[in-house]
Amino acid sequence: MKTKKGIAKASPYERAEAKLKKAVESAAPGAALGSEVALAKACGVSRMTARKAVDALIARGLVERRAGVGLFVRDASAVKRAIVFLAGNLLWEPAIRAAGEVRRAASEKGAEVEIRDAHGDMDEFIRELKAYFTSVIDWIDGVFKGVKDEMCGLEWGRLYETYRKTAYNPERVWRRVEELYGDEFVTYRRGIFEYVLGGEKEARLLNVRVFSDKEKKQVYARQTADAEKRGVSNCPLCAVGHEASAKRIWKIGEMGADHVTAWSKGGATDISNCQMLCKTHNRAKGNR
Ligand SMILES: [Zn+2]
Repeated sequence: MKTKKGIAKASPYERAEAKLKKAVESAAPGAALGSEVALAKACGVSRMTARKAVDALIARGLVERRAGVGLFVRDASAVKRAIVFLAGNLLWEPAIRAAGEVRRAASEKGAEVEIRDAHGDMDEFIRELKAYFTSVIDWIDGVFKGVKDEMCGLEWGRLYETYRKTAYNPERVWRRVEELYGDEFVTYRRGIFEYVLGGEKEARLLNVRVFSDKEKKQVYARQTADAEKRGVSNCPLCAVGHEASAKRIWKIGEMGADHVTAWSKGGATDISNCQMLCKTHNRAKGNR
């Protein structure tokens, strides 16, 4: 009853749309629906009303209008095919990931998806990108014989562009990497790779803790003279302890130079930031 009342209240347009929709739903995909004139007659509405109803179904992807031929029920497989546009300014890796996600989700629903970026063909873009990544990875494999945790997340794209034309001896490169990993003065291991690639010229990449012999001698002389005057050890850490070494005067060869303020905390490698410690204390501080 309600339905009848509802239909009775519906406008001619709504009646035409409902009738058309029923016709579309019961027809096979691709079936011809005839012309708008024929539809208008069949539904008992004006041609204007029929056109408005058809336009609404077209907008919903249920019907297509083929110029000069007439109206057709849309092929379901055509409805399932979609083109996805990704913003052109997405970062490469996320763009690829997003494209993959879209494809996967679509294929689960049986749909085909063609992916394009805002500037053109995404498939081509992804192909080129994969080829690029492959060249970068091949280059890394060729230059570095091993793998270190610190290699993860380096700016390999930039390093590849900067150093790919340089010839390297992989044996020597890796030997140097290992040596620098074992060097207690290297405080920034992530810098080792670019340091070696660049021919070991930029020590700043490593945040190296190093004092010159001249600096060490100067600091040693000052510290030792002061300690002898006060009757304590010339290692300031021994001097404040209660060990047998509290009054020991170490020889310069038994001591090492230490940054009073650590390199990693912005301390400079100059004499104002240098103290000589006995080897035991220096090692203990260096490991901190
Ligand atoms: Zn000491």
